[in-house]
Amino acid sequence: MRLLIVEDEPVLARQLNEALENFGYAIDMAADGEEGHFLGSTEEYDAVILDLGLPKLDGVTVLERWRMEGRTMPVLVLTARESWSDKVAGLDAGADDYLTKPFKMEELQARLRALIRRASGLASPELSCGTVLLDTRNSRVTVDGAAVKLTAQEYKLLGYLMHHKGKVISRTELTEHIYDQDFDRDSNTIEVFINRIRKKMNIDIIKTVRGLGYVLEDPA
Ligand code: CA
Repeated sequence: MRLLIVEDEPVLARQLNEALENFGYAIDMAADGEEGHFLGSTEEYDAVILDLGLPKLDGVTVLERWRMEGRTMPVLVLTARESWSDKVAGLDAGADDYLTKPFKMEELQARLRALIRRASGLASPELSCGTVLLDTRNSRVTVDGAAVKLTAQEYKLLGYLMHHKGKVISRTELTEHIYDQDFDRDSNTIEVFINRIRKKMNIDIIKTVRGLGYVLEDPA
């Protein structure tokens, strides 16, 4: 899963980046509204964390522009403003959720998980496929109850597929959702990751669809 964080306060931006990276997200950062708007318009994100008070372009305007352009990714608004009218403005501009600063990182993470799973039409934080369980609350994967150790990239990839079970996902789409903007992307490595995950899980749930990509399916 890939996130965009638009936050101009350097200390908070760094804390968000570190905490969420440790939780297995690929992350792009923007420190002002213009750059944030550009990235959100041109790159693929599973969720966005958007500060409202931003240099160059304020958060509400950024959000309104994305929605006018047809960008539908879930957006969580962060705001230092406590007045109810700012929250209403944020939600009416197209935000899906909001948090008032200061906040607990645990609460932010739980809200993000909820936004991401709802965007995929899922209700539970625990995702399953056959005997494979992926718990988004602690980034753990088990097969038949036994823990499977995945690398950060392998987890991102399996997490994306688990959020989109039954849909054919192209290599390009996977690449867009597991790497951040600065990463030297190579869609050929996706095949390598997929094969490693298959080996580690030792269960046949990731099918290759020739010429199209991959699909996660419950075993017959
Ligand atoms: Ca700010």
